[in-house]
Formats: sequence, C-alpha cells, structure tokens
Amino acid sequence: MSVSALEFSQQLSAHPKSAQERAAILANPGFGDYFTDHTAVIDYKADETGTGIWQNARIEPYGPIAMDPAAAVLHYGQEIFEGLKAYRHADGSVWTFRPEANAARMNLSALRLALPELPEELFMESLRRLVSVDSDWIPEGDGAALYLRPFMIATEAFLGVRPAREVSYRVIASPAGNYFGGELKPVSIWLSTRYARAGIGGTGEAKCGGNYAASLIAQMEGEAHGCKQVLFLDAANDNAVEELGGMNVFFVFKDGSLVTPALSGTILHGVTRSSVIQLGRDRGLDVQERKITLDEWRDGVASGDITEVFACGTAAVITPVGELKTETETIGSADAVAGPVTMSIREQLLGVQTGTVEDTHGWLTRL
Ligand code: PMP
Repeated sequence: MSVSALEFSQQLSAHPKSAQERAAILANPGFGDYFTDHTAVIDYKADETGTGIWQNARIEPYGPIAMDPAAAVLHYGQEIFEGLKAYRHADGSVWTFRPEANAARMNLSALRLALPELPEELFMESLRRLVSVDSDWIPEGDGAALYLRPFMIATEAFLGVRPAREVSYRVIASPAGNYFGGELKPVSIWLSTRYARAGIGGTGEAKCGGNYAASLIAQMEGEAHGCKQVLFLDAANDNAVEELGGMNVFFVFKDGSLVTPALSGTILHGVTRSSVIQLGRDRGLDVQERKITLDEWRDGVASGDITEVFACGTAAVITPVGELKTETETIGSADAVAGPVTMSIREQLLGVQTGTVEDTHGWLTRL
C-alpha cells in the first residue's frame, strides 16, 4: 500500500483536561492510571479473500469505543498490543527508544494472532501524531515518561471462529512515573509452580492480551505472598527459567558472564532485553543467551557464583531482584541491595533514553 497516501485527519477534544488538572496528574502520575486527551486510530477492512487496506487514519478525542457486542475481540480475544515510552529531553525535544523494534514485534504478534500487519511508517506516524497533540502530557523528572500503548483489536461483528475482516488499530498514552514507586528497592518475586504462561507452539512470544489474562491468577497468588511480580518456568524443560509476567530476567555471574534465557519461542522478545545484551557486550561481559534452570539459580546464589539478578522491561526499565519465593523455599534475600552491574546498566540505559548519555547505537528516534 502507499503509506504516504494515508493522511491523518484530526479532531481535537472539546473537553481536554485543564492545565491545572493535568499538572496535578503529572506531579504524581503513577503507572497506567491517567490518559491523555486524544487517541490515534486507523481502521482496517478486508474482503472475503483476505485482502485488506488500512484506512481512515485519525486523531480523535480520547473516550469510550463504540463496538458491536458481537465484535470478535470480545469473544475470542483476537487482540495484540505494544508498549513504549516517549521521553522529553532537556532541550525540549521528544524521543522514543527503538520504536522500530516495537513495530516489528507488533507485526510478529499480528502474524500469530491472524491480525493484519501494520506498516512501520504508519506505526511511527500514529505515535508522532498522538504525541504532538498531547505533548503537554509528557511528565518530567527521574524515570518519568509518557507511556504509549498501541493496540489492535478485531472489531468485526461475527461469532464464527475465523480471523476478523474488520480491525482497529489504536494508540493511547498515559503519563508514567517510577513503575514500582519510590526508591529502587530489590523486588520479591513469586515462582509460579501451579500455572504456566506459555508452551511450545503457543502464544508466549506474542504480545497478546490473552497471555496477560492467563497470568493474573498467578499474579494474585504472588501478591498473597507479598510479591510484586511472578516468575514463570518451563516445567517440562528441567524447570528452565522463562520470564516474569511483564519483564525479562538476567543473571550476573562472578566470572563476568551475563546470562539471560534464550528466545525459545515461549518468551517475549523484550526490547529492553535486547538493549541490555548489547550494553553488556559493550562493556566486555560474556553475554550468554541460554537455558538457565531453577537449580542453577538456587546453586549459584548459594555458592556466590551468581552475584546479581535483575528484571528488565519498558515500564520498570531495570529492577533488581532481591528474592525468589516459592511454596517451599526462598532463594536470595529481600534485604539484598541493588548490585553494581545492575545499577550501572540501568543508569546507562536510562541516560540514553532521557538524553544524558550519548546514544552510540542510534536507538533514539525523534518524534
Ligand atoms: N516479557 C513480558 C511478558 C512483557 O510483557 C514485557 C513488557 N513488554 C517484557 C518481557 C519486556 O519487554 P520490553 O523490554 O520490550 O518492554
């Protein structure tokens, strides 16, 4: 399709939040609680042969979506999403971090969920247009950014089980502060032994809503044990560590290696994960993408071979892991402090994102 032909129309909100309301929100945005005044939308329609086009690109006021109660997304969960952030740098310019990686990952998810691919140029333009009308919503301050949530839903009203021919792509934006709130304290993680997140051939490496719906029960179990995140294992593969409910995981070894579970098809291709791998290599660490089991974690912490564990993702950037709790044991300690490798990679990554450290890899895109 010709992308340049798809012009965005723009209808501005007649009832935007007042400057005062907005300032109050930006002073303490939390995560995912407040939304900006507008949304970007592009519709897709296909014929019976499956040939379709993206059309009617627009910026419109943020508000409820009118949808037929028979819309496929409401019944069969044909939905995917992405998450990335826009940062305001000291000179006032606004940037995103590796957005092309999110565009590519959304198209991988689209393939898996039988949704149409969205050309990268349209993805980028949707972010640009939304951030430009809502640029007053970018919070400033340590770890603060405007979180962008592109998503795609099957809107066709049809109860047969087949890929929908009508789809809507949207972007909403939400000012975000520090994900876990307050200072950078190592988090406690719950190990889910009862529930799996993904399996071979499933949707583990797609960013689809169903994965998250299926993880909620494990998350509740974790919260009942005082843990903020849940770790999922592959029980059929020697209890290999996979990932957390919303983050990838890394292990720092005494011998200078940095280990993260390999992309086996069941875990998300984290953009932060891929950036940490690069930053680890840049500083001479022996970065290994490989299988790491629960036994290796337990033994490594006990022997001192594993010196740091951290989790990473767009929302929380890099978060030290203090302890891993299960029904029967605890690995590590809640009183652990963030280790030097964790802190140094975190500072570098945040520095690149917020414009205080040179972007040697060309990861930033100006919006
Ligand atoms: N794993 C899962 C399951 C996630 O939801 C996320 C957040 N997108 C991540 C890992 C981290 O990915 P990213 O670094 O791209 O945010």
